[in-house]
Amino acid sequence: MLFTPEKYRLPDLPMRPFIEASEIESYLQTAQSDKPRIEAAINRALAGRRLSLPEVASLLNADDPETVRLIKDAAQTLKTAVYGNRIVLFAPLYVGNDCVNDCTYCGFRATNRDAVRITLDRQALTREVEALEEDGQKRLILVFGEHPAYSPEYIADAIRTVYAVKKAPGEIRRVNINAAPLDVAGFRTVKEAGVGTYQIFQETYHPKTYADVHPRGPKKDYGHRLTALDRALEAGLDDVGVGALFGLYDWRFEVMALVRHANHLEACYNIGPHTISVPRLQAASHSETARRFAVSDDDFTRLIAILRLAVPYSGLICTARESPAIRRQALRYGVSQIDGGTRLELGAYAAAPNETQNLHREQFQINDERTLAEIVDELLDDGYLPSFCTACYRKGRTGEHFMALSVPGFIKRFCTPNALCTLAEYLEDYAADALREKGYALIEKNIAQISREATRNDLRKRLQQIRYGVRDLYY
Ligand code: SAM
Ligand code: SF4
Repeated sequence: MLFTPEKYRLPDLPMRPFIEASEIESYLQTAQSDKPRIEAAINRALAGRRLSLPEVASLLNADDPETVRLIKDAAQTLKTAVYGNRIVLFAPLYVGNDCVNDCTYCGFRATNRDAVRITLDRQALTREVEALEEDGQKRLILVFGEHPAYSPEYIADAIRTVYAVKKAPGEIRRVNINAAPLDVAGFRTVKEAGVGTYQIFQETYHPKTYADVHPRGPKKDYGHRLTALDRALEAGLDDVGVGALFGLYDWRFEVMALVRHANHLEACYNIGPHTISVPRLQAASHSETARRFAVSDDDFTRLIAILRLAVPYSGLICTARESPAIRRQALRYGVSQIDGGTRLELGAYAAAPNETQNLHREQFQINDERTLAEIVDELLDDGYLPSFCTACYRKGRTGEHFMALSVPGFIKRFCTPNALCTLAEYLEDYAADALREKGYALIEKNIAQISREATRNDLRKRLQQIRYGVRDLYY
């Protein structure tokens, strides 16, 4: 029989569902993964080309250790070429955990009577942000349950409140959100408040599984969630982030669907996802999701490598759901953004350390509880450049990862100098002596690698200004 997965394909129309499970399944069932085919796909990815769905399916089906090694090595090479050694740091800030949905995997599900429900008012939110600023954070993602109280106006107010908090010398320069899908007018409201990235995870792209794990509430509507980013882009948001909750269904299917989602956004809006997140299912209070599709550590790092090769321009995010050891590998194979100093309990950043224990105030368990300083320390040890940069967004340069791929010298001109300046700010304002010393040693090493003398000189001038107390310098 003639193999035509395309026959299942839904057309890419704005605000219309585009995932057809049969199309993805037929690619996965028939893709071959012999070495020449894998090498050809890898070479195309390394040449900066986007991979087709059949090529991604081949990478996903490649099981033997030698081929998996080839894929991971290539992902590492591509990552360094596109991102250099920068790692962007951020923190999540849970604003409210009331929720009308009953997602079977989440501690905030409506039927979890043990969950302590909290919604931060402006004062409490301000205290949280002050505590985060005192730690050196510059980029936050605000997280909300799904509830009528979390209207677009409420979310917009939260964003404005966060930007207004200035606990000297700190400030939050980019506020992203992870919230339930809005309509176009709602997205306009949050855009006006200055939102950075709007992030939403489809959880699982597999329609039948989606229905099983979302039995009640508005989230039941697969199509409404799937098209959320279309509405966000229609409303004029610049950056949107996708993700799948790995462990609900076959990870290969989810990776194919994430790539299909990127293709859809490119086809309809000429813009791909700013970020791709790879949350992996964790234990949670009252969670009742079967572990049948649990993703092993090896498969997890493998899927990160494949996503890196498949959608090279999107930032890849791996959160504190993962252990330090896994995050270290994830960074090697493609992840470009991580959170640090993470607390998921509502109000935990401003609370005394023992105040939040034993309350079911968090959504799920995390596996990396290190402080931001400890994370920065390890990144420096591993030769990475911790970055708090928010320049592109504030300069109106959206799609910066894409620019890194397509504009020659983009990283050298903008990203590395901005990362170095924001790291210097962090070292001056928040680091202990040993960390400051280590950080400046890395800064020196990185400056020495910049080939243009004029850039090196200008950068040194700026670093001197930062030492004298000037802040927020960016290219
Ligand atoms: N309520 C909004 C929603 O569902 O889109 C946004 C916030 S929700 C608090 C953020 C994400 O946490 C969810 O999209 C889901 O992927 C993830 N999550 C929920 N339960 C989890 C668990 N047990 N382990 C890991 N991640 C989980
Ligand atoms: Fe509510 Fe989001 Fe948790 Fe689902 S994942 S129960 S929508 S907070």
